[in-house]
Amino acid sequence: MPELPEVETVRRSLLPVVLHKPIEAVHIHYPRLLHNRSVGEFQELVVNNQFLDLTRRGKYLIFSLEGDLELVAHLRMTGRLIYYSDASIPLAKHTSAVFDFGAEGALRFEDVRKFGTLDLVPKGKYEEVRGLYTLGVEPLSAEFTLDHFQDLLAGRSTKIKGLLLDQTKIAGLGNIYVDESLFEAGIHPERPAGSLSKAESKRLHRAIREVLELAIANQGTTLRDYRTGFGQEGSFQNRLQIYGKKGKACPRCGADLEHKKVAGRTSHFCPACQRELI
Ligand SMILES: [Zn+2]
Repeated sequence: MPELPEVETVRRSLLPVVLHKPIEAVHIHYPRLLHNRSVGEFQELVVNNQFLDLTRRGKYLIFSLEGDLELVAHLRMTGRLIYYSDASIPLAKHTSAVFDFGAEGALRFEDVRKFGTLDLVPKGKYEEVRGLYTLGVEPLSAEFTLDHFQDLLAGRSTKIKGLLLDQTKIAGLGNIYVDESLFEAGIHPERPAGSLSKAESKRLHRAIREVLELAIANQGTTLRDYRTGFGQEGSFQNRLQIYGKKGKACPRCGADLEHKKVAGRTSHFCPACQRELI
């Protein structure tokens, strides 16, 4: 699933090409993509409108429209938002929606598994999009201070892996970047969040930001489906330290990397560099 670095890369790639272009037509090939509107209603509100801005919260993309509405997109498992400069290029097989800018190209939502969503909501009113409404702190923002992070961990018996995946605590982290950050900080995924020392939480706080920034600089991780807004693969899969590398040598100490289910997700770690508390 695309995580913060992938969604941010899509945002940055689309930003220069989809704003201020009149939307001449909207084609919906998979109506269930529209959570809260009928196809007719959606088309009526979006055709002849234009995107004025594109922002991100967690794994959500928010297209601001002229007037009082925003279009909220979530890519879920396999969704892609790709800009085509030539709108006559044949549609990919799993195209769910097309925003047609006429001679200025088109923005297409392609989604093999079809879990992606598009919601039209009044600006800033996210009650209808529950996952967006309840999002926690943005980890690359100024609000994500070490104090804030230590407050999130204090006194909690939840496993640190589960806490970092919880979107209502920190927005945008998923399985890949949680595993990479915990490795970077030398912390076992099953450690109770409240058991981390000050030094450990400081290392982890720094690791989360560094790993996310490096992943964005590398246009995200393409293991299978993810593409940028121009349909290109990311390259952070070549920089992963431990994710998906069970049985390979730890890049730091050479021990065999392991994985196990933690918080319902397959979690990769080095048993030597990331010790459980005894
Ligand atoms: Zn190691």
